[in-house]
Amino acid sequence: MAVDKEREKSNNSKQNNNVDIVSMREKYRQERDKRIRTDGLDQYNLTNGEFSSYVKDPFVAPGFSRQALTDEVEVAVIGAGFGGLIAAAKLREAGVKDIRLIDQAGDVGGTWYWNRFPGAKCDTESYIYLPLLEELNYTPTEKYISGAEVWEYCRSIATKYDLYDNACFQTEVTELRWDEEINRWVVSTDRGDRMLARYVCMSNGILHRPKLPGVPGVSSFKGHSFHTCRWDYDYTGGDLTEPLVGLEGKRVAIIGTGATGIQCIPRVAESAGHLYVFQRTPSTVEERNNYPTDVEWMNKQKPGWHQQRLDNFNILTSGGQQQEDLVNDGWTDGNRRLTKLMQAEGANTDLQTIVQWMETIDFQKMDEIRARVDSIVTDKTTAEALKPYYRYWCKRPCFHDDYLKCFNQDSVTLVDTKGKGVERISDHALHVDGVAYEVDCLIFATGFDFLPEFSRKTGYDVIGKGGVELTDKWDAGMATLFGIQTPGFPNCFVLSNSQSAFSVNFPHTLAEQSLHIAHVIGHAVAEQYSVINVSDKAAAEWAKKIIEQPTDKQQFLNECTPGYINKESEKGEVNRQSRAFGDPVEYFKILRSWRAEGSLKGVELE
Ligand code: NDP
Repeated sequence: MAVDKEREKSNNSKQNNNVDIVSMREKYRQERDKRIRTDGLDQYNLTNGEFSSYVKDPFVAPGFSRQALTDEVEVAVIGAGFGGLIAAAKLREAGVKDIRLIDQAGDVGGTWYWNRFPGAKCDTESYIYLPLLEELNYTPTEKYISGAEVWEYCRSIATKYDLYDNACFQTEVTELRWDEEINRWVVSTDRGDRMLARYVCMSNGILHRPKLPGVPGVSSFKGHSFHTCRWDYDYTGGDLTEPLVGLEGKRVAIIGTGATGIQCIPRVAESAGHLYVFQRTPSTVEERNNYPTDVEWMNKQKPGWHQQRLDNFNILTSGGQQQEDLVNDGWTDGNRRLTKLMQAEGANTDLQTIVQWMETIDFQKMDEIRARVDSIVTDKTTAEALKPYYRYWCKRPCFHDDYLKCFNQDSVTLVDTKGKGVERISDHALHVDGVAYEVDCLIFATGFDFLPEFSRKTGYDVIGKGGVELTDKWDAGMATLFGIQTPGFPNCFVLSNSQSAFSVNFPHTLAEQSLHIAHVIGHAVAEQYSVINVSDKAAAEWAKKIIEQPTDKQQFLNECTPGYINKESEKGEVNRQSRAFGDPVEYFKILRSWRAEGSLKGVELE
C-alpha cells in the first residue's frame, strides 16, 4: 500500500520531534484532495460585465473630466503603485526630466490606494518593505505599519520626486502602439488621450484585479455587498481606525480568510450586530509581535543600511545563510530553525537530509500554529476548524494578535464550509450545508486574479513593431531580457515577475528592476540614442535559462492545498517559459553584474 511504502521510506522522519510525519502527510493530502475542484481557476467571476460595479472607485468624487491630451513626454510610466513610483524616482536620479505617471486610481499608491479596508497593515517589516527609505530619510512609526502609513509614504515619494504635476489619474490606458515612423509610443486612454511617449515603463501590478466566487446566485444578492479592495465606508461608517458604526445591529457576512480577511475580520467583529465568517481553508495565523520604531536605533544606521537589510532578508527567505538575521521575524523563522538544526547536527548536511529537515521543521511549526489556535479559541469545534493542515508556504502566512480571539465573541460565528466554500447565495442569505445564513451585508475578501495572461492583467494590449501584440508574442513563447525588455518592442520596459524574480518582499524586486531600467534609459538619454531594442539572441538565451530552472518548486506546489499560489491546483502543462527566474538572490546578482560590466550586452541602441 502507498502509505506503508511511504512509511518505510521515511523511517527516519520522526527525528528530533514527536511529529508522525507519515500520518501528517496523509492528513495534508486528504485536506488538499477534498478542496480540489474540476473548475480550478474558472470557479471565479472577474469583476467585469455584470460585476463591474464592484471595481468602481469609491475614493474619488464623481464627475471628473479633463481635456484629452495629445502631447509628448519622454517616459510614460503606467501604474503608479510602488513599481511605477520607484521606476520614476530612479529615472529622475538618472537624469530623466519629463516623466508622466498614468493610473486609473485617483492618486498614487496602487495596492495601498485601493486596499483601504479597516485593519489593513503591512505584514512585511516596514524597514524593508518601504522603498527609498534612505533617499526620503523616513523613519516608519512601527515595525509593521498601517496601510494608511504605507499609502501616505507612496504620496511622499511622488512629492519628493516631483511626480504629481505631470501625472494623469483616473485614466485607464486602452492601448500602447509603437509608431515606427516617428519612433514613439502612442498611448491611448479611456479619456480620449493619444499621447506620445519616447519610452514606456509598465508596472501593472500582480494582485489588483479583484475576483468574486462563482457561487450560484452571487449576482442575485439583494443586500449590500462590496469587495474589500473597494471598502464602502459610506455604508460601514468609521474608517481605518474608528469603529464601523454603520454596521451596528447589522448581520454581516465575510467570505474569505486569506491575508485580507484575517486583517479586516476583527475590525468588523468590533461593530457588527452579528458577523458570519465563511471559511473554506484556514490561514496560518502567528503572533504579530509589533512594536514602535526605536528612533535612536534608526538614527544610528549607517548609509547603505537599507540595501544591506533588504539583501539580508532576501537571502534568508530564499534559503541562503547569513551571519545575522536582521529582520528576525515570522518570515525568516523557518530559516533560523534550519540553521540551528544544521549547526547542531553538523556534518551530515547533504541536500536530501536538508530537504527532510525542512519538512520536519515545517510540521513542527504548523503544529505550533495549530496549538496556538487551541490556546486562544475556547470553543473546541471552532478551534478545530481554524487549524490549517498544509505545508507552511502553501499559502501566504498571516500574522495577527486579534483574529483568533474574535471567535470567542458571541456575536461572531465561524461558518466552516469544510473546504467546499459557500454553496449558493440567494436574495438575502448565504447557504452552507443546508443552512441559510440571512445577512444584510456581504463582504467579499476573496482575493485577486493571479497570473493571468498579459492583456488580462493590464486591461490593454501593447502593439509593437509590425503590429505584433505582446500577449501573442509572450503566449507563443516568452523571450525577454531579464523579463524586462522584449525584442520587437523598442523602448518598452516591463516590471513584473514573469521571467524575473519573485521575492517574498515584492517591492525589493521592483526596486532592483527599476534601477536596471533607469540605468538603460539613463544611458540612452545621456548618449542621445532614440531607440533601445533587445536582440533576439539575448532574449532566447534568457528564456533558455528560465526553462532550465529546476522544477522542484512545482512538485511542492502540486502537493499544496489549492489557492492562487498554485493556480487552484490546476493540472496541465506548466508554462515553464513564462515563470519567474527562481532564486531572486541570483537574479539580482545577474542584473547587477550586467550593469557593472558596462557594455549593455544584448541591448541594441540606435
Ligand atoms: P486570497 O486569495 O489570499 O484569499 C481569498 C480567500 O477567499 C481565501 O480564504 C479563499 O479560500 C476564499 N474563498 C474563495 N472562494 C471562496 C468560496 N467560494 N467560499 C468561501 N471562501 C472562498 O486573497 P486576499 O485578498 O486575502 O490576499 C491576497 C494577497 O494580498 C495576499 O496573499 C497578500 O500577498 C496580499 N496582502 C498583503 C497584505 C500585506 O500585509 N502586505 C495584506 C493583505 C493582503 P481558499 O483559501 O480555500 O481558496
